[in-house]
Amino acid sequence: MQNQEILAVSESFYSLQGEGKTMGIPAIFLRLSGCNLICGGKGAEKDGALHNGATWICDTIDVWMQGQSYPFDELIASMNASFQFVKRLEKGAHLVITGGEPLLQQQRIIHFLTYLEQNHGICPIVEIETNATIEPLAALDARVHYWNCSPKLSNSGMSLQARWKQQVIDWFGNNPKTMFKFVLAAKYEFEEIDEMIRSKQIDASKIVLMPAADSIEQLLERNKMIAQLCIDQQLRMCTRLHVEIWNQLTGV
Ligand code: SF4
Repeated sequence: MQNQEILAVSESFYSLQGEGKTMGIPAIFLRLSGCNLICGGKGAEKDGALHNGATWICDTIDVWMQGQSYPFDELIASMNASFQFVKRLEKGAHLVITGGEPLLQQQRIIHFLTYLEQNHGICPIVEIETNATIEPLAALDARVHYWNCSPKLSNSGMSLQARWKQQVIDWFGNNPKTMFKFVLAAKYEFEEIDEMIRSKQIDASKIVLMPAADSIEQLLERNKMIAQLCIDQQLRMCTRLHVEIWNQLTGV
């Protein structure tokens, strides 16, 4: 049984939401430790190389594999000292809980949000970023305003069994707070998504396509490809705000 009064955290910072439905909104990012997938294929976490047919590696792997467990009061005090956590939430900043895979700690997140309400009188706007392989508990859904799902394709190097749980996808698909984000580096990668839409595994109205890019040059080039794909397929598009503004600078 996990201790429910702590959270295993890798990092936290205050910035702008860089993507998705709420792009541009001031937000506090709380990155929880641990993930149930290794995008890049098993072994990528050790040697940094691509395995099992992967075409990309998780860009936060070095961060979410680190971390420390904090009692809630310590975590809040440390975030208050770093970026006025409570004050910013009071003023309406979103709380974006990300990972790794944050739903591995979903019972603890429920306790943390209850703690925030009971001890600080705040019920923030909560966004959770998930790989959509774990079904949320009803008590967590009641506190979440946006489910930012990023199901993984075969180019992640993960087996279908590990990365795609149709029952969980259906749960999110039936939830009005969900968007499914897919990141593409090339047009042909859309074929797998197209097949999912055709076979009704996923609803096109909930999909947002984003360019894979870690430099401004790459972003500008791929933005055009994604824009044309979205126009042709009548899907929603989103760019990458942080790369557009800060290019390859990290920690912003
Ligand atoms: S699911 Fe997300 S956090 Fe986990 S390895 Fe894949 S990209 Fe990284």
